[in-house]
Amino acid sequence: TDTAFDTERREIDRSHMQVSDEVAIDIRGMNKWFGAFHVLRDINLTVYRGERIVICGPSGSGKSTLIRCINRLEEHQQGTIVVDGTELTSDLKNIDRVRSEVGMVFQHFNLFPHLTVLDNCTLAPIWVRKTPKKEAEETAMRYLERVKIPEQALKYPGQLSGGQQQRVAIARSLCMNPRIMLFDEPTSALDPEMIKEVLDTMISLAEEGMTMLCVTHEMGFARQVANRVIFMDQGQIVEQNEPEEFFNNPQSDRTKLFLSQIL
Ligand code: ADP
Ligand code: MG
Repeated sequence: TDTAFDTERREIDRSHMQVSDEVAIDIRGMNKWFGAFHVLRDINLTVYRGERIVICGPSGSGKSTLIRCINRLEEHQQGTIVVDGTELTSDLKNIDRVRSEVGMVFQHFNLFPHLTVLDNCTLAPIWVRKTPKKEAEETAMRYLERVKIPEQALKYPGQLSGGQQQRVAIARSLCMNPRIMLFDEPTSALDPEMIKEVLDTMISLAEEGMTMLCVTHEMGFARQVANRVIFMDQGQIVEQNEPEEFFNNPQSDRTKLFLSQIL
């Protein structure tokens, strides 16, 4: 389903896309169960600042659960998750600190339907960050301009297309000034003609040097933007590599089978 993107390839400005040796996320020996179901198995993953990682794998392989653990929307039971030097434990202070560093964009936008676009974007800055309203609105308008929908600021989410709603969701996350962005299949609920506008927004973020973890099956995006592609199956990281090697020379049979089904 990456045709929408592939047919309109754009030149990518890589001048700010460096990977540093500073660790952004460090996951060690992490395991998680839902009841008796062992959903994540011995996950080890170090993400360096500036990385653009694409996570792919069959439905049910644990991709969403993994990225939801990174901002504690899900709780892990074994091992450690350290985000920007803060370990995620039951300590609420740490959870708050990590959440303020990490933005998340979901498949189904998760905007507040009864709030305008602008109010969606200013809610957390005003109530969580105690930013003055006027300043929060100025920041929100700046980000709405960056995702190219400032003219929609006073509308309600239901009046916007899916692609526009997803760009609002991205702008809303950016208003909290995150250092890391997590995306969970941000384009899979969108009609093909809207996929490109959301991918374009994600590319712009990558060009600005944002550290990004993206669960997506947009393999055109993975080839062009990712520095690393991770394949998950049955709760494990089965294989990871730079995109070129990952796509041209997959190692495991499970990766080969998956790629043969989606490419
Ligand atoms: P993916 O995003 O790769 O499709 P998920 O992380 O959503 O996979 O789910 C992994 C597995 O965990 C699936 O089998 C799913 O049914 C199960 N699962 C997800 N969330 C829950 C939950 N809250 N309770 C019980 N099982 C869950
Ligand atoms: Mg999922």
